[in-house]
Amino acid sequence: MSAVCAPRTRRLLRLVAPRLTAAMLRNYSLDVSAAPLLRTQGYVDGRWVSAASVFPVLDPATGQEIARVSDCGPAEAKQAVDAAYKAFESWKRSTAKERSVLLRKWFDLMTLHKEDLAKLITFECGKPMKESLGEITYSASFLEWFSEEARRVYGDIVPSPVRDRKIFLLKQPVGVASIITPWNFPSAMITRKVGAALAAGCTVVVKPAEDTPLSALALAELAEQAGIPAGVFNVVPCSREKTPAVGQVLCTDPLVGKISFTGSTATGKVLLKMAADTVKKVSMELGGHAPFIVFDSADVDRAVAGAMASKFRNSGQTCVCSNRFLVQSGIYERFVDKLGQAMDAELRLGHGSDPQTTQGPLINSRAADKVLQQVSDAVSRGATVLRGGKRLHGSFVEPTLLVDVSTDMLCTREETFGPLVPVIRFETEQEALAVANSANVGLAGYFFSQDVSQIWRVAEDLEVGMVGVNEGIVSSAEAPFGGVKESGLGREGSKYGIDEYLEVKYMCLGNLNP
Ligand code: NAD
Repeated sequence: MSAVCAPRTRRLLRLVAPRLTAAMLRNYSLDVSAAPLLRTQGYVDGRWVSAASVFPVLDPATGQEIARVSDCGPAEAKQAVDAAYKAFESWKRSTAKERSVLLRKWFDLMTLHKEDLAKLITFECGKPMKESLGEITYSASFLEWFSEEARRVYGDIVPSPVRDRKIFLLKQPVGVASIITPWNFPSAMITRKVGAALAAGCTVVVKPAEDTPLSALALAELAEQAGIPAGVFNVVPCSREKTPAVGQVLCTDPLVGKISFTGSTATGKVLLKMAADTVKKVSMELGGHAPFIVFDSADVDRAVAGAMASKFRNSGQTCVCSNRFLVQSGIYERFVDKLGQAMDAELRLGHGSDPQTTQGPLINSRAADKVLQQVSDAVSRGATVLRGGKRLHGSFVEPTLLVDVSTDMLCTREETFGPLVPVIRFETEQEALAVANSANVGLAGYFFSQDVSQIWRVAEDLEVGMVGVNEGIVSSAEAPFGGVKESGLGREGSKYGIDEYLEVKYMCLGNLNP
């Protein structure tokens, strides 16, 4: 594959490769004595609990073990559900203002400890410190936002069709919520759910991803310091092996009223089937396959900046990362050339603790294998590698730019979750929309255009839950996050996020004028 690399690519490799020897990476290890929020036991009913065994947490950049965490099983999961159910009795009766004050204290503590929290993310998930700090700011923003939303859950009084009746609508918390989260945002995917749940008056049991339990346990420590009552926030970390049994408890126990999941579409379907037997409420934030469309009228520099931001965050491992680049023929050469230059100038692989690093490793070798498989499939079907295309040390993969890409290639048909930019050339708006909308998922989509009519048309016609117009990053606590089609059910954040944890009860007050 290196035979097809442009000369500029080889310059990039000379800059990058020396930073990635195993010896260089070994210089970075988590200093446990300087990690005050490192906790390794489960957190159930306000107590730190051990399990019969432990499982290792690895630094994906080096493969070194950074901690051993209690491997909770179905028994601990059941204890957590029972504790959450018991705590729900009093938590649901607390006032909105009391819940608001506690969430705000939790937010303040996250802000105070943001460096320590970010360091845990960098070591367990691999992302560069700057991004980890960004995740903590984003993660804490959900506690702040929902501390405010807690006090704005209003019911309704509805005009009655009958004289002697009054119609009242009450909003009440759903109950115990099982929260199952992925590794790629090990803090924010928890607070985006838990902030809303606790604000509404629900209690929760969190099962973090097996790769990244430390951020969840650090959140538990800060919840305790904030004064969140015992049983309201529980965390049951577990290994990949124990996950199905723990998941079974969290998704089928009759005391659980709600499941909120973020992760792959395949796992989401498994959980939905489990939820069906007891007809639980569900929120599903699943996989994406975001199109990134550059129309001829686009500002090419802005489009390149948007592509860099949307593609290479967390080394391409976000659900809203652009996954398919569709570029109109009139701007194609300029866009590809400038994007390649930006990749050369801005991307540096290395350990996330190194301030120069912009690209960490992929989460594990399976993730790296998937990217490499997509690259070789594309090349075998006629694509050309303009940058990168190779695996480096461990699960590091070179940022890769592919051109001459067609829609029969794997990389245009499935989520990559890695630093791969496949570029497809198109001629007409209709053609681009047809390709963009051909996916079975629809989470985020992006397009760059300066034609106002086109902006309205395309924004309306893209089959996604979130559209970035001349913008490569769209998430914030104020805006609703979620997808259409097989990208999921429900919305998180925004004024809508709290509704996922509320039931509307209709109360009819009758015989008022006998
Ligand atoms: P994953 O589906 O493999 O795992 C997610 C979580 O589900 C983990 O905690 C895992 O342990 C758990 N899990 C797996 N099988 C389970 C079972 N049988 N019972 C209970 N829990 C089970 O996903 P991942 O690889 O961790 O994350 C990457 C995926 O997440 C990508 O597809 C990405 O697009 C998606 N994602 C979506 C969003 C969103 O908001 N829509 C955000 C981040 C990531």
